[in-house]
Amino acid sequence: MARVYNFSAGPAMLPEAVLQQAREEMLDWHGTGTCVAEMSHRGKAFVSIAERAEADLRALLGIPENYRVLFLQGGASSQFAMVPMNLLRGKGEADYVNTGTWSKKAIAEARRYCAVNVAASTVEESLGRAPAQHELALSGERAAYVHYTPNETIAGVEFSYVPETGVVPLVADMSSTLLSRPIDVSRFGLIYAGAQKNIGPAGLTIVIVRDDLLGQPQAATPTMFDYKVHADADSMYNTPPTYAWYLAGLVFQWLRENGGLGAMAEINARKAALLYGTIDASDFYHNPVDPGSRSWMNVPFTLADPALDGRFLEEAAAAGLTALKGHRSAGGMRASIYNAMPEAGVEALVAFMREFERRHG
Ligand code: PMP
Repeated sequence: MARVYNFSAGPAMLPEAVLQQAREEMLDWHGTGTCVAEMSHRGKAFVSIAERAEADLRALLGIPENYRVLFLQGGASSQFAMVPMNLLRGKGEADYVNTGTWSKKAIAEARRYCAVNVAASTVEESLGRAPAQHELALSGERAAYVHYTPNETIAGVEFSYVPETGVVPLVADMSSTLLSRPIDVSRFGLIYAGAQKNIGPAGLTIVIVRDDLLGQPQAATPTMFDYKVHADADSMYNTPPTYAWYLAGLVFQWLRENGGLGAMAEINARKAALLYGTIDASDFYHNPVDPGSRSWMNVPFTLADPALDGRFLEEAAAAGLTALKGHRSAGGMRASIYNAMPEAGVEALVAFMREFERRHG
């Protein structure tokens, strides 16, 4: 069976070369006679895989020495709680920017631990957008940290800039944007991301945290929710998600072999421009996001006649273009075009969209 272009928001496509390599190494990793999934996480073979993955991620993102990289479980959703549990550090307030569903979930969870100041909210506006820096009503040093969602996966709303928060640590849920382009890690106190979009398979959660923020968790923080416990144990306090860690490591190697994040940024910008250009050139398709805040990774769009949605999805799937159905809360369509989506996949999608419009528009 031929592989399809899978536009799922996550779990999402993985680079084919990575899947091929995993297949080749499945039964016997580098002469060990075992599958990576069968290895002790404390054995020499797996430790070498784990260290290589971290080194490659550090190289890709240019992660400074004073940041720790944690390979955790629990998904980005656990980070909604782990962030306040660890980063309040005796303070009772935090600033949150609300740009959509995932921001809201982070805010709701943080409210269990502290007073949340919503520094800006754009969710009531008809056009999705990220607020500008001057719209952020930050509380200064009263806030233990400022949290935002650089890319809202459902709404397809992305910040085109990194908010300036002075000495207050900036915390970013980069679940659907990490590795899509270079970033300056030193601007952030903490970055987290569920892996299943741009990093690897579900089950792995990456946390990049500045080391001075570790070690002051709230009193009742469970051991497993204390970043420092994981940092001190090189993410092996308990059994880590070994196979997902390994596959993420293969993705990091693939990224480095393919020009790193600068090259990804160029390709991703081209893919997004092609898709948004096709949508904007037509009266049949519509994207509900302000052009300055459009996501490179998740492109929601609607059809002029929603009665055609079912047919669009059916015909797309028949053409090998799958998982285009929009999130259940948003309706319409959504094309997620992470690093592993080849340009040819986006070209096939826009060709299909033009043809569908010609027949039904
Ligand atoms: N934050 C963002 C921006 C997301 O896109 C998602 C998943 N779609 C989550 C958080 C939740 O991630 P998880 O399912 O890994 O808990």
